[in-house]
Amino acid sequence: MTGSALGQALAVAPGDAEYRTYMGHTLTCAACRAGASCVTAVQLGRVWREARG
Ligand SMILES: [Zn+2]
Repeated sequence: MTGSALGQALAVAPGDAEYRTYMGHTLTCAACRAGASCVTAVQLGRVWREARG
């Protein structure tokens, strides 16, 4: 094991935390799971895009 793959997996890209928050919401929100984008999802998505740059 070289460790390079592990290093890449642990690297945090810009907006990664926000993306996880956004995805976590869509997986647990009934409206989002139904295919709709609720107000929270829109806000989280906006935060993600801004953090990602
Ligand atoms: Zn939602």
